[in-house]
Amino acid sequence: MSFLTAETSILAHYTPYQGMMLIDGELCHSVTGKRVDRIGPAHGIVVANYPEGSKEDAGLAISAAHRALDKEWATLTASERAKLLLKVAEGIAARVDEMAMIECLETGKPLSQAHGEVSGCVDLWRYAASLARTLHGESYNNLGDSMLGVVVRQPVGVVTMITPWNFPIWILSQKLPFALAAGCTVVIKPSEFTNGTTLMLGEILIEAGLPRGVVNIVTGLGEEVGAPLSTHELVDMVSFTGSTRVGTLIAAEAGRRLKKVSLELGGKNPQIIFPDCDWDAAVDAVVFGVYFNAGECCNSGSRILVHKDIADKFTRAVVEKSRLVRVGDPLNPEVKIGAIINENQMITIEKAIQSARDQGAEILLGGERIPSRQGLFLEPTIVGNVTPGMDIAREEVFGPVLSILTFEDKDQAIKIANDTCYGLSASVWSKDIDICLEAARKIKAGTVWVNTFLDGSPELPFGGFNQSGLGRELGRHAVEDYTEQKTIQLHIGERTN
Ligand code: NAD
Repeated sequence: MSFLTAETSILAHYTPYQGMMLIDGELCHSVTGKRVDRIGPAHGIVVANYPEGSKEDAGLAISAAHRALDKEWATLTASERAKLLLKVAEGIAARVDEMAMIECLETGKPLSQAHGEVSGCVDLWRYAASLARTLHGESYNNLGDSMLGVVVRQPVGVVTMITPWNFPIWILSQKLPFALAAGCTVVIKPSEFTNGTTLMLGEILIEAGLPRGVVNIVTGLGEEVGAPLSTHELVDMVSFTGSTRVGTLIAAEAGRRLKKVSLELGGKNPQIIFPDCDWDAAVDAVVFGVYFNAGECCNSGSRILVHKDIADKFTRAVVEKSRLVRVGDPLNPEVKIGAIINENQMITIEKAIQSARDQGAEILLGGERIPSRQGLFLEPTIVGNVTPGMDIAREEVFGPVLSILTFEDKDQAIKIANDTCYGLSASVWSKDIDICLEAARKIKAGTVWVNTFLDGSPELPFGGFNQSGLGRELGRHAVEDYTEQKTIQLHIGERTN
């Protein structure tokens, strides 16, 4: 492992981003006028400054979204809505560099990864535009001579979106354009650690000509701004991505008020490696899968299950490859693992590593914080001798930490794969198609990759089983999730009795 230091030349010319909230079509300060600095986790300097929103701001935003529901927005045709979404896509494309920079500085992720994240969003907005034009209902002409049934789709209403810090603009883009395609109005609360790209998107939405109040953005803390977004009487649906702990709270509060809820939560995703796998591809996928986004990724391949016959050799290969992964300043193009998001998260990861040690696992690589005056960095870490009952095999760590477990046969591998409270994703590595298909069928996860990992496409639904969430994002049904079905039944002709 080598630690690469700051690209000070880039930061020397950087001016902290001064973000503004978006309420009722206006970029604005919070009601109190208070603002708060964001200190970047990699550089220890102020990288942005934001309004500190409150319950009052949340209330204003929800009222604006409610008012906008039945106004101009409701009268637009699918074609007009799609044109607006495409304009937003172009607006993002025009600001990719600027948005990637703030994403990198606030999250601590490598600039190249931030760039990939932001530019990938352009396609999500374009895909949602295509779905806006294909959203349709159904008709039933088989209800007898005197009846016709028509089922129409209507927007669910005011949708609130509460998002996390790990892929701020990507996760928002998995939600927002689809809700807009359905005709909903929206209030967004980004993570307090990473408001930047969401507020820049607010500027793009205004430039694209979105009617006032259709999208509102309130910055602030979870309990202060997020909580009212899941309880307010004018909110019809809550779409949340974040931890299982907060998701459970939000679902309970929203559920008590019978609001529609969609949840994308945590994961403890297995990669199952059989002896006949494509060795190099599997090693690459394991290393990429655990260190991508510093492991702060709901889809992180944080536990691998390796067949006992190849376990030693495969583990050595993964450890050796991991030694080459460069950690350090995310502005340095060589770096693959940037900073950990904040001190609390760092402590959580360190505790998970310590608990693995205490429970008898062996640290095969890393395991320590890297001393740095500026930022929060952790060595890429591999934990061996892990058994399925250990916390490190079951709980999400959300850091660059890989657990290695072994199995004796396919049935045991599938059993271990399913032995957590999560079910977000998994992968299977084998050239035997029967093994792959059986595992793909039996693993309880929203996505099972076969001989690949972390791939995705807007066409493919994304979401989790069990405590990894409720509902699916993306895919051709993504817009429908933001609609209600309404049955209209018509009587035809003269009445006979
Ligand atoms: P978090 O749950 O702490 O916070 C997520 C959001 O909820 C933030 O905006 C936060 O301010 C807000 N929040 C916090 N407390 C709240 C409350 N009481 N009421 C309303 N809102 C509240 O999650 P995080 O730390 O930002 O993100 C990491 C977690 O997100 C991980 O567990 C990860 O697995 C999960 N995640 C899941 C997916 C997925 O698609 N399945 C994607 C990314 C992240």
